[in-house]
Amino acid sequence: DLTLDLAAVRQDFPILEREVHGKPLIYLDNAATSQTPTAVIESLSDYYRRYNANIHRGLHTLADEATAAYEGARARIQTHLNAFEPREIVFTRGTTEAINLVANSWGRANLQPGDEVLVSLMEHHSNIVPWQLLAQALGIVVRVIPVDERGVLDLAAYRDLLGERTRLVCVNHVSNALGTVNPVAEMARDAHAHGALILVDGAQALPHQRVDVQALDVDFYAFSGHKVYGPMGIGALYARASLLEAMPPWQGGGEMISRVSFDRGTEFAAIPHRFEAGTPAVPEAIALGAALDWIDGVGIERLAAWEQWLLAHATQKLEGIDGLRIIGTAPDKASVISFVVDGAHAQDIGLLIDQLGVAIRTGHHCAQPLLQHFGVEATCRASLAVYNTPEEVDAFVEALQRVLGMLR
Ligand code: PMP
Repeated sequence: DLTLDLAAVRQDFPILEREVHGKPLIYLDNAATSQTPTAVIESLSDYYRRYNANIHRGLHTLADEATAAYEGARARIQTHLNAFEPREIVFTRGTTEAINLVANSWGRANLQPGDEVLVSLMEHHSNIVPWQLLAQALGIVVRVIPVDERGVLDLAAYRDLLGERTRLVCVNHVSNALGTVNPVAEMARDAHAHGALILVDGAQALPHQRVDVQALDVDFYAFSGHKVYGPMGIGALYARASLLEAMPPWQGGGEMISRVSFDRGTEFAAIPHRFEAGTPAVPEAIALGAALDWIDGVGIERLAAWEQWLLAHATQKLEGIDGLRIIGTAPDKASVISFVVDGAHAQDIGLLIDQLGVAIRTGHHCAQPLLQHFGVEATCRASLAVYNTPEEVDAFVEALQRVLGMLR
């Protein structure tokens, strides 16, 4: 039974009660940041009220409790992603830092001048720029996997690009700008058949669907806490233990060593701590675990079914608006709708619709190459989460029509 208790879900999010410009908030910017359930807010507060202490330095009760909760959160993420062991999860600040970790650790240790990294045209800038920086530093070549007019990756072109020099494929699981769900399991098989690894940016997938890194058979999987009902400042990188073990540290400092000496050099800690220099975001990591518990409490299949229903409803309503064009019409989409409207600038729509209490995103969504492909500089993006209602979608479409009436 996939019936969702929507009223109960909404009750978990105190922010949904607020007003904006005297109107009830309609929050449709979930792809940028999802809102935070009470259980996550309480987890953060409980940490500071009861057991705030630095971790892994032990020797007193609070430090032991904080360490146990932090490592417990790691195990929580491991089970959520179906990774094989907790040490395959490295805490990072988010997706961006996870990708930079791969580029600077694995990349610098394994890539030679002339080696190729394939990056899809629909990547967020965080999965483009680290590879461009590495190209400048190491002389590697970044090649682009093209996208068709629906916003679907061109898999034939991808297979043609895979070659002798391909070392890594970088692709998002779900596009933040279009909502396209990419066939990452299939792409992983093709990459591996050519001896290349695959890095998947899961920032927009984890909020909407079950992710099983063993079933997908991907090498690296990155995500951010603040898009899965967790806090900002925390995220993680998954990688197979054998892969992580062969990777050098990328940031040096405390927590990542086993012994430091000026004479005999420094020995590094085992994975995953080798990649977690300095004091980490301990309460945020623990609260991320609470966010995954919250998702499991709802049930990811139930959440996904509701979002798919809302997506279909919103798409149908928007298609009724004269001069509106949806950018991204892939058959398999998450609940993200990008659109442009003839005779109205995205920016103006965003500003005016905010006056009516509706939060949508306007701009390039950190995917400028993709938007250039569609011949636009900016789109409006409505992205739906499990707590959104059909009434909110209807009110958004009505508000949009009012705004367009003013602008056209
Ligand atoms: N990749 C995708 C697909 C995203 O949507 C985002 C966030 N907009 C990022 C990467 C970057 O995530 P963060 O800013 O949390 O590091």
